[in-house]
Amino acid sequence: MSANKEEMQTHENGPLTITKFPHLGPFDNNAYLIAHREAGEAIILDMPAGSRELIDAIGDLKVTAVLLTHTHPDHWADYDLVKSATGAPVFCHPAEVIMPAAKIDRPLADGDEMAAGSAIVRALHTPGHTPGSTCYIVGEILFSGDVLFPGVPGRRDPRPPRPRRRHHDRRFQARVRRLRFPRSPSRPLRRRNVGRLTRTRTS
Ligand SMILES: [Zn+2]
Repeated sequence: MSANKEEMQTHENGPLTITKFPHLGPFDNNAYLIAHREAGEAIILDMPAGSRELIDAIGDLKVTAVLLTHTHPDHWADYDLVKSATGAPVFCHPAEVIMPAAKIDRPLADGDEMAAGSAIVRALHTPGHTPGSTCYIVGEILFSGDVLFPGVPGRRDPRPPRPRRRHHDRRFQARVRRLRFPRSPSRPLRRRNVGRLTRTRTS
């Protein structure tokens, strides 16, 4: 059994089985498989290098969507593998410009909802780490991508121009206050720490 499999984490959440595939690729990325077993449907969250492990876990599930938190290359390095294995549409916020637009099948807007069986995954546009960074909410679980790491917010890319920085900072802070589920579910960020982080310069 590989180190990855040893650290794979599975969370049961109502009808959903959420599996985290940690430490993927050279940048230690996470990917998630959000599966509604009864309905036979699943959603994939991010597709870093090393996503073969996630693909192998899909089995007979029908993947209804591949959601990207943002388009820093480490989050979609295995695009071709995931796309060819699932044929599922790739969702991403249109403010993301690093990945070629032709690779995005469905532009996402704040509040958009995707379904896996009866379960809903809701998009929350959280500009800050990148202009189109998007968190995803399933029930009380939030997937923050690189907007929020355990103990530290993700750096801002690109840094806003000085005249608009205050506006960007306020908007970012308002969004971060709503976050409950950082990148590593094994180390949940306590709410008082979120308050401290919102006052931290992020680049
Ligand atoms: Zn990033």
